[in-house]
Amino acid sequence: MRFSLALGLGLSWLLLQQTAAAPPVRISIEARAQQPGELILVTVETEQPSSVTGTVFNTEVRFFPTREPTVWQALLGLDVDLQPGEYRLDLKIVTDSGVESSETRMLQVAPRAFATRYLTLPKKYVNPPADVQERIRREAEEVRRIFSVASPEPVWEGQFRRPLGGKVISSFGKRSVLNGQPRNVHAGVDLRAPQGTVLRAPAGGRVVLAKELYFAGNSIILDHGLGLFSQFAHLSTFKVKEGQLVQPGETIGLTGRSGRVEGPHLHWSMRLGNGRIDPMSVLWLLSDGNRARPRSKAISEFSNRDPFVR
Ligand SMILES: [Zn+2]
Repeated sequence: MRFSLALGLGLSWLLLQQTAAAPPVRISIEARAQQPGELILVTVETEQPSSVTGTVFNTEVRFFPTREPTVWQALLGLDVDLQPGEYRLDLKIVTDSGVESSETRMLQVAPRAFATRYLTLPKKYVNPPADVQERIRREAEEVRRIFSVASPEPVWEGQFRRPLGGKVISSFGKRSVLNGQPRNVHAGVDLRAPQGTVLRAPAGGRVVLAKELYFAGNSIILDHGLGLFSQFAHLSTFKVKEGQLVQPGETIGLTGRSGRVEGPHLHWSMRLGNGRIDPMSVLWLLSDGNRARPRSKAISEFSNRDPFVR
């Protein structure tokens, strides 16, 4: 009798666990395209307040809370050199009452054909002299270290916008041939910008680098949080200092032609973790401020001033 009561209780507990085991979850994956160089937004919506974790490409996916307690989001970056194919996105959802469930989605990364660009540059930028090799190595290491640390909190909120009005004069992902020698992929976009054009922060961020680099010239790196970074190169003037928190649309510098360039323009590159991504894919996805809705303590310090509105 006691045994069957215990068994009965155990069974009903199991049944309860089973009915509670898989609360309905809605998962959406948004992107301009699932191709190398694209940013992807994952939204997980649950019935009850929950927390969400995940993995993709053998690394942790950093989910962030939104203004709604039942909605979590994450950004994924498909590196420009990512092999096309199928990739698993594994998600674990734990409700605040402790019920766990897992979900898997497959990312179908399609191939993307990138054009080739031919540039003619001063020799010192194509085959740098021996005495600057050490400087180049040191700067590459410094930048790599910056990108390897993802701020746990978003430092931006709302929409991303173009940092200046000029059109794209060299698109993302082109294979570069410098003075006849094949080189690295062009992991950013070049925007038309006469010398001295005002450069605005495309979104809120923290200035994590503002200095002259050998190839990129006068450069600014903004940390938008959660592993999302913007880098601007070839500037003439800095209007910000390292460590400074900038608001969306704030003037951060003036464009120029410093470093390895044929002429004045703005080079804008973006990263999400290890992924080198097309800033135009970020604009496509995040220029609608209602799509990604990060909730951040850092942001509440910002005023509501909107420098884009004149
Ligand atoms: Zn460029």
